[in-house]
Amino acid sequence: MNIADLLPENIKRLKPYVAGKTIAEVKKEYGLERISKLASNENRLGCSSKVKDAVLTSLKEIQDYPDPVSGKLRAAIADRNAVKESEVILAAGSESIISILCRTFFKHDENAVTANATFVGFFVQAGVRGVELKKVPVTESYRFHVDGILDAIDDKTKMVYLANPNNPTGTYLKADEYRKLVDGIPENVLLIADEAYFEYANEVDDYLSAMDYRKPNVIILRTFSKAFGLAGFRIGYGIADETLITEMLKTKLTFEPTAPAQAAALVAYDDLEFLKKSTEVVKKGRDRLYSFFDDHNVQYEKSISNSVMMILDSESEAVDFTQKMLEQGVILRRINAFGLPNCVRITIGTPSEMDHFEESFKQIFKQ
Ligand SMILES: *Cc1c(COP(=O)(O)O)cnc(C)c1O
Repeated sequence: MNIADLLPENIKRLKPYVAGKTIAEVKKEYGLERISKLASNENRLGCSSKVKDAVLTSLKEIQDYPDPVSGKLRAAIADRNAVKESEVILAAGSESIISILCRTFFKHDENAVTANATFVGFFVQAGVRGVELKKVPVTESYRFHVDGILDAIDDKTKMVYLANPNNPTGTYLKADEYRKLVDGIPENVLLIADEAYFEYANEVDDYLSAMDYRKPNVIILRTFSKAFGLAGFRIGYGIADETLITEMLKTKLTFEPTAPAQAAALVAYDDLEFLKKSTEVVKKGRDRLYSFFDDHNVQYEKSISNSVMMILDSESEAVDFTQKMLEQGVILRRINAFGLPNCVRITIGTPSEMDHFEESFKQIFKQ
C-alpha cells in the first residue's frame, strides 16, 4: 500500500504540527531547575482559583455526555455580550471553530484571503479543505494592509480571516481601519474576526472589537485559552448571526467542549478579578520589556496582546537567540511558521519570569 496514493493533494502538502518544548522536557534536556515558558501566549498566572472546585464537581457526572450546546455558558456569554443565545457557539477552542467554519462554508474551488503573518491555525484548517489561501503581506510595520486585503477579494473568495489583535505581531487594526475593512468586504464574503486577545486589547482607545460594529457576515471568535488561563481545557466561542450559527452547529463535533471544560469556563468567565489581575500583569510586563529592549537596542513592535515580537536581523540570528535562551531555561517561540522567520515572540510572564528573561538575555549578549 502506498499511503501517498490514498491522500488528496492538499493533505499531502500539509506538515505535522511541531509543538514547542514542554517545561519537563527542557528541565531534563538541559539539566535546569528554573524554567520560564514564554512561548505559547498562555496565562503565566494560571487560572481562576474557582476552577478547581468546579471541575471536581463536574467529575461527578463524567460518565454522561456533556450538554452539546454548553447551555449555561452560552447563556452567560449571550448575556454579557447582549446577544441571543442562538448567536453563540461553543467548541473545543477557537481553533475548533475555525475548523467548523472551514468545514461548513468552503466549496472546493474557493479561496480565503488573509495576511502572510498571522495565526497558523487558519492556514492549516483552510489547507485541510484544499482551498486557495491568498496571503496579503503585512506592511513594513507589521500591520494588516487593509487596501491590499480588500483588493485580494475576488469572485471565488468565501472568507477573510484576521486576528485582531494579531498573533504573532501583537499589532491591531485601528477602529477606522477596521470599519473600512468591514465596510469594504462584500456581504456574501464572511469575515472571521479572531479576537483571542480581546481581553488584553479591550481598554485600548482606538481598538474596536467586531462586537461593537456588528455585521451579518462577521463571525467573532474569542477563547478561554489566553486571558482566562484555560488553554489545557480547549474551549472557545464564536458570536455571529444566528443563521450562520445554526449551520455551524451542524458540523460541530456534537459533544465538544467536554463537561469539565464547560464547568471550568463558566466559573472563569465570572471571575473578573482574576481577569483584571491577568491583564494588569501583562500591561506592566509589556512596558517593562519595551524599556529593556530600548536600553539594549533591540527592535520590536509595540503590542496590545500578551506577547511582544522581537525583530532580529536574520533567520539565523533568530534561531541562535532562541536556542541560547532555551539553554538558560527561557522557552521562546520562533515564528517562522507564522511567516516571520527573523522574528521571535515573547509571551509576557510574571515579574519573576521577566527577570529570568532579562538575566538570560544579558548573559548571552555580554559574551
Ligand atoms: C491562541 C490563539 C488561538 C487559539 O485559541 P484556542 O481557543 O486555544 O484554540 C486562536 N487564535 C489566535 C489568534 C490565537 O493566538
